[in-house]
Amino acid sequence: MRRSVFCLLAAVFCLGATVWVTGCASEEEDRYTICAEYFPQERLLRADMTVSVRNRTSDALSALSFSIYPNAYREGAEYRPVALVYMPSAYYAGKSYGGIRITALSGAESWTIAGEDENILSVSLSRSLSPGEKAQFSLSFEVTLAQVNHRLGAGEHVVTLADFYPVLCPVGEDGFSEYVCADLGDPFVRECADYEVSLTVPSEYLAVCGFPAEIEEGEAKTTYRIVAKKARDVAFVLGKELECVSAEQDGTQVEFWYFDCADPETALAAAQESLACFSELFGNYGGRRYALVQADLPYGGMEYTGLSMLSPDLTKKELAPVIAHETAHQWWYASVGSNQFEAPWQDEGLAEYSAALFLERNPQYGTSYSEFVSRCEKSYRAYYSVSSQLSGMNDTSMTRALTSFRGEYEYRNISYEKGVILFDRVRQVVGDKRFFEGLREYASGYAGKLASCEDLIACFRKAGPGAEGIFRSFIQGDCVI
Ligand SMILES: [Zn+2]
Repeated sequence: MRRSVFCLLAAVFCLGATVWVTGCASEEEDRYTICAEYFPQERLLRADMTVSVRNRTSDALSALSFSIYPNAYREGAEYRPVALVYMPSAYYAGKSYGGIRITALSGAESWTIAGEDENILSVSLSRSLSPGEKAQFSLSFEVTLAQVNHRLGAGEHVVTLADFYPVLCPVGEDGFSEYVCADLGDPFVRECADYEVSLTVPSEYLAVCGFPAEIEEGEAKTTYRIVAKKARDVAFVLGKELECVSAEQDGTQVEFWYFDCADPETALAAAQESLACFSELFGNYGGRRYALVQADLPYGGMEYTGLSMLSPDLTKKELAPVIAHETAHQWWYASVGSNQFEAPWQDEGLAEYSAALFLERNPQYGTSYSEFVSRCEKSYRAYYSVSSQLSGMNDTSMTRALTSFRGEYEYRNISYEKGVILFDRVRQVVGDKRFFEGLREYASGYAGKLASCEDLIACFRKAGPGAEGIFRSFIQGDCVI
């Protein structure tokens, strides 16, 4: 164990190395410039943000829709971010609420809070935005954090700042897709963008994020400045008592930050091995930094760009597979994005299958590939049996909205376990060489983009005639497992 000062020095050493590269030059990217400060007494984040976004449709736009995730924590929200089963452990101090308040807007006509569940910030532009044209405006906002152990909140040990800023909704020819905050899965669909973020915190806090930071220490406050190009998101974890172990892996600074871990070196090693394994299988990890950080989550882990949050409650046996799963999201989420709301199996199934590949190549963790896949089959068959008996009919299709699942049990078995079985069957039919060629094509062809299910299937089409049929029968729910 080493004190955190080691990692601060490492971060300062990385000054100037502030580029997250997942694809080509990003002149066309949307841009978010955020200047924020956190006030722990009030559990309040005050921020000024300038947004520059391009009209990617073929129609003129008069208004832009932004997702405002913090509002899901407000009192009276219909779609709450915390599932019922996690409520008691998440809300450790009893009922607590958060939310977002827009305090100023300039460079646009007006704003309103809209959407099915006050989940959308709609900004009316001063003039119509032609196709391909960029709009720029500034707004100020305040986010109040609930006392909650979750992705965004003042937790028992750390403060998590994820999805704290308004982010442009995905847009297609039919306009903006506005997603509510489902309490299952990760209800986030976002394009990559360029970010410049400065975050000021009281000096007793240390801020961890997924990018090398320029750190300016004042008398009572510390400011972290990051520049991230073509990044899926920017998130922070703030803690007063975080320890760190770190190491270099193929040019990436890998760090594990923790407040409660008996064997941090094992977690760090699993993170390094995961990066090495997936870089070899899928293509190089593009980041200069990868931070794994313990956070007060009621479930195993959560992925952000260059950063994975990890629950302190993981057992020794769970630790390496969960770290492998979260690390795989650097490829299947941070780099290759997908619609996590309407097709959650696409990144979760692949991340979970990647954990099986990690265990196959790292026998020291005591679970073989076939054991892992068998466990998924067993779990899925048990789910199918129970579900059939209870409901009489069973929809096992995979591409469906988060809000259509009947609970955590169904979501997990359809998106994770069945996802693992799907990729295992494709591999069996096309063979290792073509299977990994398909995965590498998917990883490189859609880096920095949002890939559809059809895009994924197309990467395996040339692997052999059987692959597409397997994908379709699994996704449609026709196959018997
Ligand atoms: Zn996941």
